[in-house]
Amino acid sequence: MAMVFCRGCGKQIHETAPCCPSCGAVQNLAPAPTQSQSYHWTHIVSLVTAVLFFLLLAAEPDQQWTQDECIGLIVLSLLPIGFGIAGVSSRPHGRWMSITGIIIGTLLLLAAIGNMS
Ligand SMILES: [Zn+2]
Repeated sequence: MAMVFCRGCGKQIHETAPCCPSCGAVQNLAPAPTQSQSYHWTHIVSLVTAVLFFLLLAAEPDQQWTQDECIGLIVLSLLPIGFGIAGVSSRPHGRWMSITGIIIGTLLLLAAIGNMS
C-alpha cells in the first residue's frame, strides 16, 4: 500500500487512485512505457552480430582470406555498424550495446580491408 501525494491539494492518497478523493484532481497514472525499459532490437542485433563475427574470426586468427572472403567480411561487418548507428540515433536506452557493435564492426571492417592488399 504505497501512498503518494495528490497533484492538486497535496493530501496523501493511494498510488492507484485515479483521482483525489478530497479535491477530485485527476492523478497522472500513465505508466512509464515498457519499451523504454527494454533494449531495442537494433541494439541487440548490432551487438550480437558483431560478437558473432568477432568469435568467428578469433577462432581462426591465422587464416589467410581470399579476396572474396574479405569482401564478404566487409559486407558482414557493415551489419553491426549499420544497426548500431540506427540504434544509437533512435534509442538511448542500451546505447552501449550499439556502440560496442559499431566498434567491433569497425575493427572487423579494417581487418578485412587490411587483408585485401
Ligand atoms: Zn487532492
